[in-house]
Amino acid sequence: MRNVTGLTCVICDKTYPADYAGYVCTDHGNEGILDVRYNYERIAGSWTKADLDRNRNRTMWRYRPLMPVRPDAPVPPLTVGGTPMYDAAPLASDLGVARVWVKDEGRQPTASLKDRASAIAVVKARDAGAEVVTTASTGNAAAALSGISASVGQRNVIFVPKSAPEAKIAQLLAYGSTVALVNGNYNDAFELCMLAAAEYGWYNRNTGYNPFMTEGKKTAGLEILEDLSWNPPDAIFVSVGDGSIIGGVHKAMKDALGLGWIDRAPRIYGIQAAGSDYMVQAFESGEDVLTKAPISADTVADSISADLPRDRIKAMRAATETGGAYIRVSDDEILAAQPLLARGSGVFAEPAGAAAHAGLIAAVNKGLVTATDEVVVLSTGSGLKDVASAMKAVTAAGTKPMHVDPTLEALKTAMQKGNNE
Ligand SMILES: *Cc1c(COP(=O)(O)O)cnc(C)c1O
Ligand SMILES: [Zn+2]
Repeated sequence: MRNVTGLTCVICDKTYPADYAGYVCTDHGNEGILDVRYNYERIAGSWTKADLDRNRNRTMWRYRPLMPVRPDAPVPPLTVGGTPMYDAAPLASDLGVARVWVKDEGRQPTASLKDRASAIAVVKARDAGAEVVTTASTGNAAAALSGISASVGQRNVIFVPKSAPEAKIAQLLAYGSTVALVNGNYNDAFELCMLAAAEYGWYNRNTGYNPFMTEGKKTAGLEILEDLSWNPPDAIFVSVGDGSIIGGVHKAMKDALGLGWIDRAPRIYGIQAAGSDYMVQAFESGEDVLTKAPISADTVADSISADLPRDRIKAMRAATETGGAYIRVSDDEILAAQPLLARGSGVFAEPAGAAAHAGLIAAVNKGLVTATDEVVVLSTGSGLKDVASAMKAVTAAGTKPMHVDPTLEALKTAMQKGNNE
């Protein structure tokens, strides 16, 4: 932890010591999210790109000098991080851009990017000697905390809205978490979890509250840079609910700049569903996200459905400080992007993952991305997380299976019909 210089409030810049036992700035309550600050000079003095090249650990822990955990703290055994990033030439040529890379976070142990944050949460909870760790979630952060906790026998209590997709709830129950299905939305689950954590003294993993979640999520951004030999892409597309992932991607860029490993940051684009567009509204109007009232969110992309993005300050800075933007896409555009992404790259994403690709399409149409741009689409979660939405998406795309009797004759007739359609 000697690489960490302190934790700084995103509102007032007040700095707390690296071993601060609280979560937020005492002057700003739950809005006073802390940002972990590092001594880049010290880190760069003892850790180089060549050291990384030699490191055969492909998990997120390869970036440990840039993580807020003790150097000797044990880490969970599940393989978190090291997800592949594919050069999707068909998508690039369809869109008329120089290159499209798709990073597949569906390959994480619990099938979403959230494993990167929950892995840190479990390390910190065990370091603090916490008996129980808790989170509220639209589903994926919960599944991640649940699975990673299971891998080390850590007790945990999970709060999810009762509308969460069945696959995500099944994961929680299979992993053996104590599960509270909340009669309400994510915002209600969050508030209840916050009350319960304070009441019972549980370790609190909540997104946009626990300052260390950004530090886990940023490893996706570090991997993007390392995969490209520290030649940053021109733009990165990230779907946004609470805004913690996009803040993490931005943090990766700031870390790499701080170490002198890159000399410019990519433009970061935040993509939101039209029915959950708090950040887009604020980006367009210039309204202060600290005082802007919550909205009433509703979208097919459950993972990015948020009335009040909890990490909105970091999230806004990710776009404004990199020359990016916030872009709104409709549920129809999200569902249409799901098979397009799958067919053009082989990556099957849940709606919130496909939303990033829908955002790229919208950005091309708006002229925000041009023919020379090399872009990354961060596909944040697996399509298997929400099969009901995937079936909606393929139906809307007009894709139907053939129905055949088990004879070659019947197949030939069906194939003929298929071709004539
Ligand atoms: C959580 C999540 C997001 C959004 O991340 P935030 O940090 O809430 O903005 C996007 N996609 C998937 C699949 C997620 O699970
Ligand atoms: Zn403060």
